[in-house]
Amino acid sequence: MGLQISASNSDLFLNCQRPFDPEVELDEREATDAMNYGSAFAEVMAEYRLRGKLPSLFVHNVAAKWKLDTDSEGDLAAHTSRAYALWKEWQLQGPLDRLKVVRVETPMATFLGATKATAKKLAVQTRETKLDLETHHYDLDANEIGGTPDVCLTSDDKKIRVVSDDKTGEDRAMVYSSPKDMGQLKTLALMTDATHVAVFHSPRSGGSDAIYLDPITPKELAEHHAALRLALSRVGDGSMRPGPWCRYCPAKSSCPTQYGELAVHTGALVKKLSGAGAIQLSDGVDRGLFVQTWSQLEKLAKIAREQIKEEVAAGEVYECPDGRVLTLTEVKRENISLKSIREALGKPAGEAEIERLRKMGAIKEITWVEMRAK
Ligand code: SF4
Repeated sequence: MGLQISASNSDLFLNCQRPFDPEVELDEREATDAMNYGSAFAEVMAEYRLRGKLPSLFVHNVAAKWKLDTDSEGDLAAHTSRAYALWKEWQLQGPLDRLKVVRVETPMATFLGATKATAKKLAVQTRETKLDLETHHYDLDANEIGGTPDVCLTSDDKKIRVVSDDKTGEDRAMVYSSPKDMGQLKTLALMTDATHVAVFHSPRSGGSDAIYLDPITPKELAEHHAALRLALSRVGDGSMRPGPWCRYCPAKSSCPTQYGELAVHTGALVKKLSGAGAIQLSDGVDRGLFVQTWSQLEKLAKIAREQIKEEVAAGEVYECPDGRVLTLTEVKRENISLKSIREALGKPAGEAEIERLRKMGAIKEITWVEMRAK
């Protein structure tokens, strides 16, 4: 079956092509309430942005279409009204010239080209297409990528073209530090020939609405285009790469790397080691097996830790058994090494400086004994 290539899964596509292989079965997934709310929000905002007001019963009809309950419908009405007021102010008085809305919620298809026959065809070609709201499937031809910009804006002289995406989740990492968001924005910019990308972050509960806006250069877009084409050429050839993006992968349950379930597997291994008494090293324990298993666990734990870090950066909230919540803190430290001295001073001067420090006793030699399996 394989996953359809779209702007929102660009980061996954660039990193691992296995889920996009037509031969790969995808895990069954149902739209969550948060996803339905986000879709309803985008639809109401599109109407506001296009006409400046809503026809009667518009919110009610949109809420019914996305199967929102009465409370969510109330939230949607208040939320979109608040969000549109802020958006309009930004659109008219923001950091760029007065911007005019030129397109809202339009499904589009962009030809990427990646086969030998089309390899020289570098120009981006975009057309409007259809999107099935039930299945989220775009009507795409071969070598096309789908995407729906929430809104496209332009300045009067047409020099500034902004493509913007709405996000309604509560906790969000900064957009520029989120590879998933940046992948999506770059693809949308490529599809719309934008000079700037924007994210309008408006959480449902309110209080921290913000607009992120950044220019995007033709060089960045050309590089992104080339990366997408390369990824396209790898679909179906067995290419796969595990990493933080695995958490969004709809083919992770059948993945040979099992990276998406890494934290679960590592937890199970810890439980097994400690629960079976192996950790106490009693007489009956096979020490060779223990060391080998423990080494594997150390490697897994390192990767799992990085994965959990990525998840926290993306806004997940995890509580430790002692009640503390996992957070990320920037830590700075100074570091000096033989390599950094050689790099800073060049080889002859670097070696002379290292010798000088050695004579002063500032460089210490230490020895230790390592246990290795040979
Ligand atoms: S789980 Fe990760 S490595 Fe496996 S197919 Fe999905 S993205 Fe690729």
